[in-house]
Amino acid sequence: MLEKEGFAVSTDAVGVFGRPLLLKEVWGPAMEQSGFLGLEVLAWHHVNISKLAEQYPVVGIHGKIRASFKGFDLYKLASGPLLDFMITDTASLIEKYGTSTPYMLFHQREAGFSKNIIQQTKPIQTLFVENSPHLGSLEEAIKLISDFREAGINTGLMFDLYHYLAGISDLKEIYSSNFPELWDLLMQKLQNTFTEIDQQDTETPIGIHIPVGTRREDSLPVDQITEDMWKQLGGAIHQRPYTLVVIENQQAGIGTVMLTPFRIESQRSRNMEIFKKLLENNVIINS
Ligand SMILES: [Zn+2]
Repeated sequence: MLEKEGFAVSTDAVGVFGRPLLLKEVWGPAMEQSGFLGLEVLAWHHVNISKLAEQYPVVGIHGKIRASFKGFDLYKLASGPLLDFMITDTASLIEKYGTSTPYMLFHQREAGFSKNIIQQTKPIQTLFVENSPHLGSLEEAIKLISDFREAGINTGLMFDLYHYLAGISDLKEIYSSNFPELWDLLMQKLQNTFTEIDQQDTETPIGIHIPVGTRREDSLPVDQITEDMWKQLGGAIHQRPYTLVVIENQQAGIGTVMLTPFRIESQRSRNMEIFKKLLENNVIINS
């Protein structure tokens, strides 16, 4: 899928109802880098992807999550299943964009649930299966990837760093002084996953979701990540050529709903600081 090293930026930074055109307000300088490949666009019904593609390159489309809903917790409902209703269904997305967009992405639970639909609706340039935030999802994703590849679909893994941590731990633990231990486990898992995927098929594409937003429920505790830790991540990612890096940037509070003008300045300066670290520590490679 990728012919050069580079990175993408998710449209999640503008919130569910924010205008994707505002992305340049918060990611501008990053989007001007030579390594910028394009946007990973969340396929909300209300976003006109074809129109957006006239302004910015669209490298990937993020489809349904199929979040699980256990117990009555309004917040969890709103952050998962309700959002799924607002995302275009898998078959329509593939029909419309499968051949024109470099990749289509579905979370493991959706990819498993819609396995037949995906196989019947193809072609897809590249299919990414992203690990969902529950224990064992990464392993299930790897199994699915091998099934899809056997069925003739060019499929790879989108390893979401936070989702893996959420599966083996919880938010309270991730945002605690125990984070460095979790980071070590994450780095080991990343390493083992690369090895396992290469054993299956070295042609399998790999992408990494690096969520650096302020919404703790789906973002890494960036303040706790040291230069050495970023370097370690960069080394792990780029031991293999053409691994796609996607920067996610979900915002806390009202920012989850939409990017508001009074938040632009603070979000942009925070993003630029993080972006600088990603570049300096070779997590992102400009080519
Ligand atoms: Zn993700």
